[in-house]
Amino acid sequence: MDIDKDLGARKPGDHLQPVTDIRMEPGEHLGGAGGERLLQGSECASCGEKAFPTRAFCPACGGRDLVTISLPAEGTLYSYSVVHVSSSRATPYAIGYVDLANGVRVLAGLRGDSTQFRLDEAVRLVVDGDEWSFAPELENGDA
Ligand SMILES: [Zn+2]
Repeated sequence: MDIDKDLGARKPGDHLQPVTDIRMEPGEHLGGAGGERLLQGSECASCGEKAFPTRAFCPACGGRDLVTISLPAEGTLYSYSVVHVSSSRATPYAIGYVDLANGVRVLAGLRGDSTQFRLDEAVRLVVDGDEWSFAPELENGDA
């Protein structure tokens, strides 16, 4: 193993750039045939493991025979956090982990009144143009 080569071309005095924000490309992770646009994930042909986002190899068995699948729009809210300080987005905003109906856990933006979020409550994917997020089922009915 050539350590110098693995470290690349960085030299003393080179500085890493700060991460200003983690942004997705418009429409990234969305797909699906027909009318409904859904999140796209991977399913392993060897062991059946499902993952989000799509992967080049299986996180469970290392297999490389993966197929792209549409993930369920329904899930439950596993956990969430409300962000009050940001240099690049309007605050407050909420992000959380959603456990989809097929067991895949997704980190996602959340819509709705964060003071009303409840753990384990039913949430549903909301696609607005090229943006996607999850919202409590009840709020969705009002929209
Ligand atoms: Zn696998």
